[in-house]
Amino acid sequence: MKQYPVAKPYITRREHQYVDEVLRSGHLSLGPKYLAFEKKFARHVGTRYACAVSSGTTGLHLALLAAGVKPDDEVITSPFSFIASANAIVYTGATPVFCDIEPVTYNLDPTKLERLITKKTKVILMVHIFGQSADIGPIMHLARKYRLTVIEDACESVDATYHGQKTGTFGQSAVFAFYPNKQMTTGEGGMIVTNNKRVYDLCCSLRNQGRGASMDWLDHQYIGYNYRLDEMSAAVGLAQLEKLDWMIGQRRKIAAAYGRYLKPYGRYVILPQTAEGRTHTWFVYVVRLAQRRVSRPRVIEVLRRHGIQTKVYLPSIHLFDVYRRRYHFRRGQYPVSESVSASALALPIYIGLRPTDIKFICRTLITILQKTQSSPV
Ligand SMILES: *Cc1c(COP(=O)(O)O)cnc(C)c1O
Repeated sequence: MKQYPVAKPYITRREHQYVDEVLRSGHLSLGPKYLAFEKKFARHVGTRYACAVSSGTTGLHLALLAAGVKPDDEVITSPFSFIASANAIVYTGATPVFCDIEPVTYNLDPTKLERLITKKTKVILMVHIFGQSADIGPIMHLARKYRLTVIEDACESVDATYHGQKTGTFGQSAVFAFYPNKQMTTGEGGMIVTNNKRVYDLCCSLRNQGRGASMDWLDHQYIGYNYRLDEMSAAVGLAQLEKLDWMIGQRRKIAAAYGRYLKPYGRYVILPQTAEGRTHTWFVYVVRLAQRRVSRPRVIEVLRRHGIQTKVYLPSIHLFDVYRRRYHFRRGQYPVSESVSASALALPIYIGLRPTDIKFICRTLITILQKTQSSPV
């Protein structure tokens, strides 16, 4: 039986070639590849600087530190995200403050943001979820009004645009991630981008044990971390970057095909929407089950038996036990996020998924939903 994973990296000869070059050179860390990757990535996104790091999560940690986030500060972010965006706030000792999302793009709802700002608020960590930007304009407006720093969690939104401008170019800094399920991968890896020289220098130092750029190996100006990206990963990243435009184009075609097949079945599935002025780069293709009495675990299980992997994207972060216990979050506190979490289902999207595959996935999904409707479980 053919298997359809939710995500799959797209690796060709170029990745092998570049990694081979690194392995033959013997220069496995802090060599020429990560510098080339940084330079090309910065140019691709359109920022002055890029600092390669070991993951999106470590990148977010450093971006928050570079913004001066300290214990006792508050950072506003979305509860509808991968847990790493909130965890990075927790690492700094600051308190994550969640702002509910809007129901069309599942990003921060700017109309609910202002009332959450306090004297302790330092940063808005603006997540661009699923490959579509947040409503950046009004969020930046509030940040200016209250003198808050904006950091973009662009881990899912490489190449997505907001009124023609790429995500990652709006905040003081932005972080991209290259885990194998993202639009481009390095295995593990991430990238902080910024136009701010001070932020850039600080991130570069902190990822490298607090060393200054011109310092000796055993000299340190800060208590830093080892958050470096190795050369093999950077080599993969360079190869991926060369075909990123094409890969995004492929993802758009798959998303469009899903849209065509599923559109007549609005009774069963709510399709993802792209807001006016934004372009989507499809980290995941997430539908929502329209009927509340359908058992999502059962749908997932039946699809699995047909070789189709699907995932719950995403649980709301405030409802994880660890967050509830530590910050006393309650069910019902962020109702839009909770209702999207309760109904969302990510379908397979990866390069190589053909129109016939997409048709099969859609037909299987709709058949299950039609059956479970006639005999509720
Ligand atoms: C993937 C992701 C991260 C973390 O990236 P890693 O490279 O897995 O550490 C952070 N935030 C969001 C929204 C993500 O999707």
